[in-house]
Amino acid sequence: MTTSNAALAAGVTDSELIASIRDSVRGLCRGFPAEYWRALDADKAYPTAFVEAMTQAGLLGVLIPEVYGGSGLGLTAAAAILEEVHASGGNAAALHAQIYTMGTVLRHGSAAQKEMWLPRVADGSIRLQAFGVTEPTAGTDTTSLTTFARREGDTYVVNGQKVWTSRAEHSDLMVLLARTTPKDQVAKKSDGLSVFLIDMRSARGHGLTIKPIATMLNHATTEVFFDNLVIPADTLIGEEGRGFKYILDGMNAERILIAAECVGDASWLIGKARDYANTRTVFNRPIGQNQGVQFPIARNYAQYHAARLAVYDAAARYDAGLACGEQANIAKLLASEASWAAADTCLQTHGGFGFAVEYDVERKFRETRLYQVAPISTNMILAYVGEHVLHMPRSY
Ligand SMILES: Cc1cc2nc3c(=O)[nH]c(=O)nc-3n(C[C@H](O)[C@H](O)[C@H](O)COP(=O)(O)OP(=O)(O)OC[C@H]3O[C@@H](n4cnc5c(N)ncnc54)[C@H](O)[C@@H]3O)c2cc1C
Repeated sequence: MTTSNAALAAGVTDSELIASIRDSVRGLCRGFPAEYWRALDADKAYPTAFVEAMTQAGLLGVLIPEVYGGSGLGLTAAAAILEEVHASGGNAAALHAQIYTMGTVLRHGSAAQKEMWLPRVADGSIRLQAFGVTEPTAGTDTTSLTTFARREGDTYVVNGQKVWTSRAEHSDLMVLLARTTPKDQVAKKSDGLSVFLIDMRSARGHGLTIKPIATMLNHATTEVFFDNLVIPADTLIGEEGRGFKYILDGMNAERILIAAECVGDASWLIGKARDYANTRTVFNRPIGQNQGVQFPIARNYAQYHAARLAVYDAAARYDAGLACGEQANIAKLLASEASWAAADTCLQTHGGFGFAVEYDVERKFRETRLYQVAPISTNMILAYVGEHVLHMPRSY
């Protein structure tokens, strides 16, 4: 633990392969120091050079099977990559979805769809990193979404609106969840939803409009409007009406990977707080000598340690093909709370300087707060644990 931006050790033993992946990511991230992220944040700009470097290093095809040109590794490897990006002080939100959004195509797409898209996603010539689920009125109640895809001959005509569709301006393809049968005509409200793989390059200006949303963090997120957008019927993934299940299938992976980013953030924030506490002298002694400063940092480390174990336990279960809903949800809960607690302590430890942009603490503070809301809010995780793990009544 000599620098603030090396991942702090906490209980996870890596295989040689994972350790070498971590080394390469750390090396790559050294080329994208705090000044890089700070400047992007000020301009609300997309980290194109970083995304390109990660693509060229072959890191974004980590989950794609070798037969389609990826590295065919598991979620543990993907989690290590994303954790290291965040532990370096960077942010993987601009590219993390390129790693896992293709899972819907891989698991449920036709042979033709996989052959067409996966090799190009693996080599980065195609960006598949937009995921259109959330809508302004439905919110967390996904089955109430109203974007509708109406079948017409060998096409579908799409109308509706999505919100918070991140990276849409930096993606060629979008995985879209839309209704194909109205909610009042299905037996179960989760029936009648379908997934489409939309080629946004041809759709933009022909029924698809993307509008950026100004947010408190640099996240390239947007609203997407569908106005009689005509898409070929063969963009449907899997069977019509079964899309909700397909989307749920990808959620454990997403939660584990976002949790890995949170432990990366926690590691960076704890290291930064520790270094400042050791060097800032007030009343003729380092502030870290005061228990009121030291103990919150020590507590954050304990929280980070527990969360990190939970993340890699969930990833190992996922890689072994075991059920991991409980573990994935709990990992996301613990990790997002650990990173937020660490952010709060780090800011407090820095006193007034925590608010100065050049220290990067306020940027991370804003960035890591997101993860208690997206991709799933803490309440929904607690509802999952209450209902599915503890067998209590459904709360909503
Ligand atoms: C920066 C950013 C990027 C995002 N990227 C994407 C993306 O790429 N694709 C995408 O589809 N979505 C994306 N999202 C959307 C994100 O997944 C949602 O914001 C999140 O799931 C919460 O939904 P909501 O905002 O509609 O909140 P709401 O559903 O309106 O909920 C508001 C609050 O009420 C709570 N709440 C609601 N119902 C209940 C209940 N029954 N019990 C207890 N608490 C409840 C929620 O937990 C939340 O705290 C993004 C969001 C943000 C902010």
